[in-house]
Amino acid sequence: MRLSRYFLPILKENPREAEIISHRLMLRAGMIRQQGQGSFSWLPLGKRVLDKVCRIIREEQNRAGALEILMPTIQSAELWRESGRYEDYGKEMLRIKDRQDRDMLYGPTNEEMVTEIFRSYVKSYKDLPLNLYHIQWKFRDEVRPRFGVMRSREFLMKDAYSFDLDYEGAKAAYNRMFVSYLRTFTRMGLQAIPMRADTGPIGGDLSHEFIILADTGESQVFCHRDYLSLAVPGADTDFSNDAEIGAIVKTWTTPYATTDEMHDEAAWEKVPASDRVSARGIEVGHIFHFGDKYSKPMGAKVTGPDGKDHFVSGGSYGIGPSRLVAAIIEASHDDNGIIWPEAVAPFDVGLINMKAGDAECDRVCGELHAAFVAAGKEVLYDDTDQRPGGKFATADLIGLPWQVIVGPRGIAAGEVEIKNRRTGERETLPIADVKQRFGAAA
Ligand code: ATP
Ligand code: MG
Repeated sequence: MRLSRYFLPILKENPREAEIISHRLMLRAGMIRQQGQGSFSWLPLGKRVLDKVCRIIREEQNRAGALEILMPTIQSAELWRESGRYEDYGKEMLRIKDRQDRDMLYGPTNEEMVTEIFRSYVKSYKDLPLNLYHIQWKFRDEVRPRFGVMRSREFLMKDAYSFDLDYEGAKAAYNRMFVSYLRTFTRMGLQAIPMRADTGPIGGDLSHEFIILADTGESQVFCHRDYLSLAVPGADTDFSNDAEIGAIVKTWTTPYATTDEMHDEAAWEKVPASDRVSARGIEVGHIFHFGDKYSKPMGAKVTGPDGKDHFVSGGSYGIGPSRLVAAIIEASHDDNGIIWPEAVAPFDVGLINMKAGDAECDRVCGELHAAFVAAGKEVLYDDTDQRPGGKFATADLIGLPWQVIVGPRGIAAGEVEIKNRRTGERETLPIADVKQRFGAAA
């Protein structure tokens, strides 16, 4: 991609409305545009990151056996009356009327709708377990939308819903999502800690919020230092093996870790003082077992092996991809801008032509651009006529993992410079070696 043809509306000044670093950097790097209170457009650079985040989530949901669907954003109030939540949900729900004066709503979540799908088709325990998920926009009329896409009113959510014959099955489904979440966040370069969360009237211990530690987080959390060094399960994890998955969950739920609501001073006192981490955190995911909360009022039941009808036991599993983009920036930036982890970087390489218009610089950049692209790399080629200082500032701000810098003096010596955005390390290499470094033929 040539920067001269791209849409990257960089802001020079710090936007005054942005209170936290991720919001500031997303605005400055031209990733998002605010459209209203808690409402944002995703501009090309931001959209690329959001898509990469979603792709990782998808891959890990699929690996854990969940199936992707897509449900509408606008829902009928009828379903919500069946579960009793239409009245309960309160002002966070955006209520709408259609031309026939029917009550509609913009979905804040999809338990009712997915339960309607389930009950229409699934009649036997033999069709279980089933886990359906989608990645869809939600609207919640938050009391205090703030911090950009971190807490917006319209936001993207991955929400999965599991259906099982009984508690044992539901717990195995819960555990699969638990492990899938560990892998998902690690792949984005994040350290997310599963913390015991409130289960409300459902009770039990099957509710965890996945939290990124960050000073700007909205939640107060408490955990054992051990979490900072626990090994995350690999890609070879066997999601069809309940015992293996259960053992991973055991390891990850044994040390102390709770959100503020679940904090237990007595248990906390037993953690050695030097191992106590009391910090602010950002909730990026939440998994929750709710049993027959929806299946019972909505009549979602299957015939069991005993020949009798059973209301299915369910859970829901949310991740906020749009919030995650901001959380990744909170966790990975410096004074000059964003530092993208490779897996979610909008481009792999920023190719900087220090003297666009110079025949040799243009030729070498063109050659490198083509070679990198042929090697499967995503490249943002700065071919604009801006001065080098401005180009470097932009490159650092948008945080691509690698910068390849081509200038007339280097070319005269047959060399170009590469810079690692994270470490700041620079190397000067012959042109052929640079191609090879990024997987291209010399
Ligand atoms: P919070 O306590 O932060 O309001 P929640 O408990 O309401 O979150 P869930 O209903 O569990 O959140 O939603 C699943 C995920 O969706 C959350 O873990 C979060 O990542 C994301 N999310 C929820 N509300 C918002 C929002 N207003 N803006 C952006 N992402 C959100
Ligand atoms: Mg909320």
